[in-house]
Amino acid sequence: MVSFLIKTFGCQFNELYSAAIADALVRGGNQSVEDLDKASLVIIDSCAVRKKSEEKAFSFLGEAAKTIGARNIVFIGCVASVDRERAVRIAGHGLRIIEGTMSLDAILAVVETLAPIELDDSPPRSLFPTADIELIRGCESYCTYCIVPAARGREISIDGADVLRSALGAVRSGFSELLFLGQNINKYRSSFGGLVGILSQVDAIEGSFWFWFLSSHPANFEPIEVRRLMELQHIEHRLHLPLQSGSDRILERMNRHYTLSQYADLVRPIRDAAGWALTTDIIVGFPGETNDDFLRTIDAVQEFRFDGVFLAKYSDRQGTPSSRMGDKVPQSVIDERHAMLLRVIQDLSREGNQRVAGQVVEVLVLSRQGSDKAFGRSIDGRNVWFSWMGQEPQVGRFMRVLIDHGSKEGLYGTTI
Ligand code: SAH
Ligand code: SF4
Repeated sequence: MVSFLIKTFGCQFNELYSAAIADALVRGGNQSVEDLDKASLVIIDSCAVRKKSEEKAFSFLGEAAKTIGARNIVFIGCVASVDRERAVRIAGHGLRIIEGTMSLDAILAVVETLAPIELDDSPPRSLFPTADIELIRGCESYCTYCIVPAARGREISIDGADVLRSALGAVRSGFSELLFLGQNINKYRSSFGGLVGILSQVDAIEGSFWFWFLSSHPANFEPIEVRRLMELQHIEHRLHLPLQSGSDRILERMNRHYTLSQYADLVRPIRDAAGWALTTDIIVGFPGETNDDFLRTIDAVQEFRFDGVFLAKYSDRQGTPSSRMGDKVPQSVIDERHAMLLRVIQDLSREGNQRVAGQVVEVLVLSRQGSDKAFGRSIDGRNVWFSWMGQEPQVGRFMRVLIDHGSKEGLYGTTI
């Protein structure tokens, strides 16, 4: 038996892989621990999307190597793929690095040399009530700021029959939510067709469950597809569609292959429908972003009334095309723009959540918080804190909650 610690940075893909590794280790009879001092195996699942996340992974790697030695560390994720040399310099020889391939099988094969594992096809239990399911690996969209194509490599769609088997297995074993994953999920192809094809098959599964998907790319998505997805029975009432910038000039320099007006056409069905939420990713301070470009982004955020925005400060990633652009925005300007846009976003979130007051929303219970409070997520993706009358909330159950009020963080109410 081995005591293991898994440290995860970054995206939902890493969350999924880390959870799957943890589950296989626990089934193999090993024990998960929280302290480096108590661990004899450490797995670091790293993120290279921004400099800050990369530095965090390296700093944890250094600490872990000092504590338990390089030989007992498995270093995976995007940083392992893009900067092997620095990892070895920090940790020393003997570090087990998995680069290039991002397949779970390849990672588990290495982990197995250090601790007994037991494999199982079902979704990681530790993510319950959500089952994360991969649809497409890798990315070939080559946004000029992004390290992901270099780190995760070519796009590989998972076979449609395998996806359906995973989805069916998850619903049968009691998962309440399916989350389908892809860096650019709109490039998915299988014998069932593209994204709409496979999700229509999933929708036909009998049972009480919701599903949604991450992340979409506006350049590979058609308005008719958005409308067809909105007609599905089990789909959550939300779309996450990264805009990145409100300026066509910057979108072009980012190699995004759409204009603001094409984006507007795409989200129109969502904005016209009551009860549907729209969230996005925005980067401020991309090289060459003028004040006018930035004001266009603010205008766009206000026009689309985003229900949630993941706001990032541009971060130079070595080897990306934008890192070679000459007209970098000074850090102080990036910080100012970030603070300004954050205020706009928070005001929109508050207003959006306040508008839900007085309505009854369907909520998936995610956790209990003490004896008289529970936390969940509404069908349109809002955080909900609630108390109850009658039936006790259990994680994974769907409940109807009457919303009393909203704040920028979410909604507050009581079950009916
Ligand atoms: N494939 C997904 C996720 C990519 S990374 C997608 O396309 O949406 C998640 C987000 O991080 C991106 O949408 C982008 O907003 C941000 N990001 C990526 N590279 C970045 C960089 N170099 N600097 C700042 N933010 C970045
Ligand atoms: Fe990066 Fe663009 Fe691919 Fe998303 S679509 S992972 S932002 S290159």
